[in-house]
Amino acid sequence: MKLYNTLTKKEEEFFTNEKLKVKMYTCGPTVYHYAHIGNLRSYIFEDILEKGLEYIGYEVIRAMNITDVGHLTSDADSGEDKMTKGAKRENKTVYEIAEFYTNAFFQDMASLNIRKPKIIEKASNNIKTYIKMIEKLIELDYAYFSHGNVYFDISKAKNYYQLSGKNPDDLKVGVRDTVEKDDFKRNPYDFVLWFTVSKFENQDMKWDSPWGVGYPGWHIECSGISYEKLGEYLDIHCGGVDNIFPHHTNEIAQSEAFLGHKWCNFWCHGAHLNDETGKMSKSNGEFLTIELLKKKGYNPLDYRFFCLNSHYRNSLVFSYESLDIARNTLTKLKNKIHSLTDDGEIDNNKFLIYKKKFCEAFENDINTSSMITVLYDILKDNNLNNKTKLSLINDFDKVLSLDLTKETKNEISKELYDKINNSIKERDSAKKDRNFELADKIRDDLLSEGIKLIDTRDGTTFEILNK
Ligand code: AMP
Ligand code: ZN
Repeated sequence: MKLYNTLTKKEEEFFTNEKLKVKMYTCGPTVYHYAHIGNLRSYIFEDILEKGLEYIGYEVIRAMNITDVGHLTSDADSGEDKMTKGAKRENKTVYEIAEFYTNAFFQDMASLNIRKPKIIEKASNNIKTYIKMIEKLIELDYAYFSHGNVYFDISKAKNYYQLSGKNPDDLKVGVRDTVEKDDFKRNPYDFVLWFTVSKFENQDMKWDSPWGVGYPGWHIECSGISYEKLGEYLDIHCGGVDNIFPHHTNEIAQSEAFLGHKWCNFWCHGAHLNDETGKMSKSNGEFLTIELLKKKGYNPLDYRFFCLNSHYRNSLVFSYESLDIARNTLTKLKNKIHSLTDDGEIDNNKFLIYKKKFCEAFENDINTSSMITVLYDILKDNNLNNKTKLSLINDFDKVLSLDLTKETKNEISKELYDKINNSIKERDSAKKDRNFELADKIRDDLLSEGIKLIDTRDGTTFEILNK
């Protein structure tokens, strides 16, 4: 399997530390707000990676954190704590905010058929581990205490710039706005491992520590949870591209300093999805969430399908027009699948040939659009019986997770499918005979039954409107 590795900046042959076992860590959400559909694109990509690896024969042990403490509004150490900000916004405690948005996140995952990782850990559950790690980092002289906080000294880290490919000169104070001058740090990009109350007097979540009452920095959480739950060696670590610097860069620095050896072999990052303004923010007063898409009548799996049609390393611009195209294509695809009647015996040879093609597409750096193309190849193959088609589709859906053979809101019975197709044929011939009155009547009759015809270059398709 070829997998692009951000660490080496190239596609590499995938390997694991233990035979056929993958230890995978994926950064989880900061639960101060709903996840936007951009965040969820990253989780869809990670879900496909996990399920695809299982499909080709690996056992995957995946861990994910829920950040309920320590993530500031800037990924550097400046700004307000995101959770405290969320609590103020809603006049609730940080615990209430964390619980509410963690559940909302799980609901989004379920709607998108994203499987929950086997291990999910709240950052606030592992304080002892972070303290143990920080103590060792101080002992080894990688970390230092200064004016109430414990910092990691990045000048001590080996290859600090490898993952990001950044030039150290660019990170000098004054070169970029993001490099803030902090007299308490030895180097401008040193980052906080432990904050004490000196940073925020009114922080709700705080714990006793050898350096005073306080709370952990965001970066140490992922290193700590990964170490605690997956051990000293990791095969894959994922996140969105924004995590490369400083978050993952700092994770590598502190984990490798603590462990005394290389930590993770593959670093995989999903490109962003942005709205038309160029970033995921409130556009036109709308915060793009799965709940919003549902309210607008979309099935969350339309969005999953939309994501799977592009490669995870290409950035994507979201628009309702593109989501409509994805929805129509998925509806057409599912209707086609639904019209397949179970017949004959499974043709094992052909089954394996198509399965191999599907695996190859996945193994080509997770080429999801090629995986979907294999699905179309199956449907088009006149020499393949329906039984084999259906079992292949069900098999592929273990990875794609689009509910391809399940009844969903947009899907319809075979009888209705045939009826609509006959009406489309009748309308086509009415149009050919220039009987536009009849053609319009057929269209309007269907519309009154909640079936909207859509004329495309490749012929007429349809959409089931919300009932
Ligand atoms: P956060 O809750 O901000 O920690 O982000 C959760 C996940 O979403 C991380 O893996 C981020 O890298 C990822 N992410 C953030 N913004 C986007 C975006 N616009 N598109 C795709 N992934 C994103
Ligand atoms: Zn992380």
